[in-house]
Amino acid sequence: PPVAIVCVGMAGSGKTTFMQRINSHLHSQKEPPYVINLDPAVRNVPFDSNIDIRDSVNYKEVMKSYNLGPNGGILTSLNLFATKIDQILNLLEKRTTPDPAKPEIKPIKNILVDTPGQIEVFVWSASGSILLDSLASTFPTVIAYIIDTPRTASTSTFMSNMLYACSILYKTKLPMILVFNKTDVKDAEFAKEWMTDFEAFQAALKVEEEEGSFGGMEGGNGMGGGSGYMGSLLNSMSLMLEEFYSHLSVVGVSSMTGAGINEFFEAVGEKAQEFERDYKPELERKR
Ligand code: GDP
Ligand code: MG
Repeated sequence: PPVAIVCVGMAGSGKTTFMQRINSHLHSQKEPPYVINLDPAVRNVPFDSNIDIRDSVNYKEVMKSYNLGPNGGILTSLNLFATKIDQILNLLEKRTTPDPAKPEIKPIKNILVDTPGQIEVFVWSASGSILLDSLASTFPTVIAYIIDTPRTASTSTFMSNMLYACSILYKTKLPMILVFNKTDVKDAEFAKEWMTDFEAFQAALKVEEEEGSFGGMEGGNGMGGGSGYMGSLLNSMSLMLEEFYSHLSVVGVSSMTGAGINEFFEAVGEKAQEFERDYKPELERKR
């Protein structure tokens, strides 16, 4: 069956570049995906999309006519777009099922969705939920949470990022792949280690405390390591996160060079199966 891959992540984490990379990967495998851009505010989309929110809503006009700032503009554009979700699902269902009258047209196996740079506008809005739920009620759907690896290399930014991912997992109730992007700049091994070996994370906390670099503050703030307030908070949070980590797939990729993209698609396969087995019954129970 086809699978929908929804890319979310902080602004600048590389969602759009990652989309471009997996799109061209699938093209080279002769499996062209169906591509949806949900970012109304993006100037240039570096890939051909089948559905582009910008074709049906003019973000600048929405801002002007409703007297909104950038986030309000994105939110209202998403709301307007969400009213068309039935049409979009119809289109998607047509393109993903074989048509006996047209055997030369291959049904599509992957649906790729890019989301607005401002992650909260998509994940925490009613229209974002409507779009995600509609997709997930029709196709196995997985969340690809894109992380800027070089910018998450300190224990505190790492922990913040993981907590955010955790909140998205519980909000969307969809299987999630953590995509540590930009490995051409910084290798993701440290992150994988911190996620599997609590003592390694604690050791990193301690080092940052001793260097006085904890929390990115010059000269130290006396809060790091296993001692002070932040240290013990981080220690207890990482125990909680162990449970969270056990539900995730983790891959390191470079959207720039293409490294790790095969591993990403292996993870998509696993998560799509998990969706059918664990997540779908839960979603249906709630409906
Ligand atoms: P988005 O806001 O999440 O859609 O992020 P973009 O895809 O627009 O990327 C933000 C910035 O990160 C751009 O300058 C990209 O060129 C850069 N970028 C994205 N992926 C990579 C990567 O794998 N390696 C490097 N070095 N830069 C990247
Ligand atoms: Mg983008």
